[in-house]
Amino acid sequence: MTYDKSQQIFETAQTLMPGGVNSPARAFGSVGGTPLIIDRGEGPYIFDVDGNRLIDYIQSWGPMILGHKHPNVMKAVQDALEKGFSFGAPTEGENELATLIIDAVESVEKVRLVNSGTEATMSAIRLARGYTQRDVIVKFAGNYHGHVDSLLVAAGSSAATLAVPNSPGVTAGTSQDTLILTYNDSEGVKQAFTEHGDRIAGVIFEPVVGNMGCVIPSSEFLQTLRECTTASGALLIFDEVMTGFRVAYGGAQSLWNITPDLTTLGKIVGGGMPIGAYGGRADIMNHVLPAGQVFQAGTLSGNPIACAAGSATLRELRDNSPYDKLDTLAETLASGLASAAQSAGQTCCVQRVGSMMTLFFNPGPVNCWEDASASDTEKFGQYFWGLIRKGIYMPCSQYEALFVSAAHTEDDIQNTISAAESVLANI
Ligand SMILES: *Cc1c(COP(=O)(O)O)cnc(C)c1O
Repeated sequence: MTYDKSQQIFETAQTLMPGGVNSPARAFGSVGGTPLIIDRGEGPYIFDVDGNRLIDYIQSWGPMILGHKHPNVMKAVQDALEKGFSFGAPTEGENELATLIIDAVESVEKVRLVNSGTEATMSAIRLARGYTQRDVIVKFAGNYHGHVDSLLVAAGSSAATLAVPNSPGVTAGTSQDTLILTYNDSEGVKQAFTEHGDRIAGVIFEPVVGNMGCVIPSSEFLQTLRECTTASGALLIFDEVMTGFRVAYGGAQSLWNITPDLTTLGKIVGGGMPIGAYGGRADIMNHVLPAGQVFQAGTLSGNPIACAAGSATLRELRDNSPYDKLDTLAETLASGLASAAQSAGQTCCVQRVGSMMTLFFNPGPVNCWEDASASDTEKFGQYFWGLIRKGIYMPCSQYEALFVSAAHTEDDIQNTISAAESVLANI
């Protein structure tokens, strides 16, 4: 395998775009080396510009749950293209996608379509603040909700206190209305509500974390979040941008049997086109302009092509539910990776929910950011590059989840396990 063309193109890209990319994770910063430049995808595979074929476990970071170029999604997009790209006026396709979302996600009675997961979370917290007329948003260390200023924060020096900016450009003023807590720490949540409850507008969190690697909430933690928010009049926001239509058709909330007030969606709901959505109880959603007073708008929101791709993807997931197949393939992969690591004498743990999982170079269990950040990221980098050379494209960071798609075959999974056995034995 050679990567000459990728390297050449990336060199040019670095003169054109900051770091050569349009989203930082793509630059391979945490595993070293230069990224592969992708030419095309087909089912579970992607092909780089040098002609290398790779089994794809990134799937555009989640959206491609049906694999690349699913025929029904292609057809829906082609039909939509024939009608024109965007009108800035209502189209019937928006009703279709909204209906699919409302029927699938039990807590969502009304939904607003936006253009990205970031827009969805930004709008949901604005709505939570507008609805409750309070200022403070609670988030958890290691959870990612897009690049919303007030959520780009890190824990301050004392635990469970007001946040500090973790990006230049985020002002102290913005971050001071965010409270940052430890994931799976029920006591910390209770204490925060005791101290600040009457100022808290909402709690936003990932109901299965993907963005510090795959981390699973305890039922006690979930219960505490629901009870504390209800008791204080704050809104509970499930950020299901990654988990929605991924861990189950009804999202993580259908697995955990906890009903959020608001839900944010993205990734799979666009089937690979740029889209996001936020929704929830009708009486809360009716506070959004023009039904209510909370401002939120978008020139391209509800874009016809994106709606067509999203609706075709959701219809396929609803009508030919691949979730049992995904679970079986993912279980095979998870146990294969775990035993490969064990045979090779590596200290690892695999954490999985449905078709998302992470192999942590860490004895585990990983329950929060402090646990996750103790992983051996240098080893992870060696593992990542070892697999690339064997034609396996894993997420390029220890702190991401890998995804299995409905297009992956048993053979793809077995080939991945064999490759991992050999890589793990030699790092
Ligand atoms: C990807 C992601 C986002 C951000 O979505 P973008 O479309 O990248 O803006 C927000 N929340 C979670 C949980 C995500 O995984």
